[in-house]
Amino acid sequence: MGEILIVPVEMQFVERSVLRAVAAYVGDFYSGFGLSVRILHKIDIRPFMDGYNETRRQFLGRTFILGLSGLRRAAAVLGITDADLYEEGMNFIFGLAHPYFRTAVISLHRLRPEFYGEPGDRNLLKERAVKEAMHELGHVFGLTHCPDPKCVMHFSNSILDTDLKGRDYCTSCRKKLEEMLR
Ligand SMILES: [Zn+2]
Ligand SMILES: [Zn+2]
Repeated sequence: MGEILIVPVEMQFVERSVLRAVAAYVGDFYSGFGLSVRILHKIDIRPFMDGYNETRRQFLGRTFILGLSGLRRAAAVLGITDADLYEEGMNFIFGLAHPYFRTAVISLHRLRPEFYGEPGDRNLLKERAVKEAMHELGHVFGLTHCPDPKCVMHFSNSILDTDLKGRDYCTSCRKKLEEMLR
């Protein structure tokens, strides 16, 4: 049985309850494909400092892909960090995935309601984290962006897109996933 490993990468704080919510949802869905989910011990941000841009006060997303992919052999590795991520040409990214390395990372930084001046809401944070995790894992297993705004593989330009989409793959994306994971 293959494993999806969840690796918390802490700058300041990654909530355990968020990791557990992601692990539960992802585990439930991917158990249908013979994959299980395990949360590894947290690691701190130091190994990723190479990717830190002081002017932007953000980390280059791909640094995490390279750093996390070497950790452990697995069906997929998903990093969950509180650091704010970017890629060249983008102001920020919610997450990033690399199918070749079977590795993805998501950032909680812009999923927190507080980032938008709203009151903290742990359930909303969990909901958003689950969607971003399902999205990036979809990429890891070979899915591309989906035109259906309700499908979890729809591209999120802003948090509004994330809130609008569901937690699940649409019928067409699910079918593709079944073909690729068979
Ligand atoms: Zn995407
Ligand atoms: Zn879809």
